[in-house]
Amino acid sequence: MMNDNCISFNLDDNVFRGRVVRLDKVLSDIFSHQSYPDNVAAAVAETSVLGVLISSLMKFEGIFTLQMQGNGPLSVLVADVTSAGKMRATAKYDAKAIADAQILRKTEGQIEPAPHWLGQGNLIFTIDQGKNTDLYQGVVDLQGKNLAECALRYFKNSEQIDTHLRLFLQKNGNEWKAAGILIQKMPTKGGKDISEDSDMLAELWNEDKILTDSLKQEEIFDKNLSLNDILFRLFHEHKVRVVKNTEYQFGCRCSRKKLLNTLSSMKKEDIDDMVENGKITATCNFCGQIYSFDKGELIKH
Ligand SMILES: [Zn+2]
Repeated sequence: MMNDNCISFNLDDNVFRGRVVRLDKVLSDIFSHQSYPDNVAAAVAETSVLGVLISSLMKFEGIFTLQMQGNGPLSVLVADVTSAGKMRATAKYDAKAIADAQILRKTEGQIEPAPHWLGQGNLIFTIDQGKNTDLYQGVVDLQGKNLAECALRYFKNSEQIDTHLRLFLQKNGNEWKAAGILIQKMPTKGGKDISEDSDMLAELWNEDKILTDSLKQEEIFDKNLSLNDILFRLFHEHKVRVVKNTEYQFGCRCSRKKLLNTLSSMKKEDIDDMVENGKITATCNFCGQIYSFDKGELIKH
């Protein structure tokens, strides 16, 4: 059974659209290069699911990046997804600050929602379709009890599309699984704004939201249920129609050349601090690949 995929579906004669996603092996690959504290791993897993959900709603050829940055001990969360289904994710954080805060609050061993650790900041979407194209960017303040709420603010404020979204996390030993489901009103139907439509549509939308909320953690992570099975269970009375099934794999796009460019743009003092025995070693945060450069190489570059 495929476990790293996202299904696009429509409901109620295509007046609503949805996505359901489950990530398993991709997360193992993302985490195989890093040992994150649980709170950070949970945030990275949720960011990965959100990245897939949101990118799957957008038409693009290239790279979609979801980034959250804040002034808290978890300063950056980033997941990127290519139109070919390759994805990666990472985080920047202060492990000691997170541990200390949990000791102080007596919440050790508990997972607290990502916005709590991010503090004040932004959630940013970027779509890069390559050279000679404009970068599309959407930005919204990080506000909400959890990452799902933060993302919903984007749909509400920037896109003005009614959206309902849930994220799920599961940890078994050191294995993380994450999943998500989203339903959304279509922006228009046949050129007509459906918000002007009947009470019946409002009722259908309400029912679909309630059904989405009825999805249980043990169902979404049930190995014996495919995402198709889950959709049918939830929405069989709402004319659920599967439109597309997309698979995702871990994939990093780092290269020696890209890293050399990044290092070359740094201040000379910072580079000097990194030199050891005439060499600078840097590790890709996404995939763990280690690159080594001569100091001279950077200066020439
Ligand atoms: Zn890499």
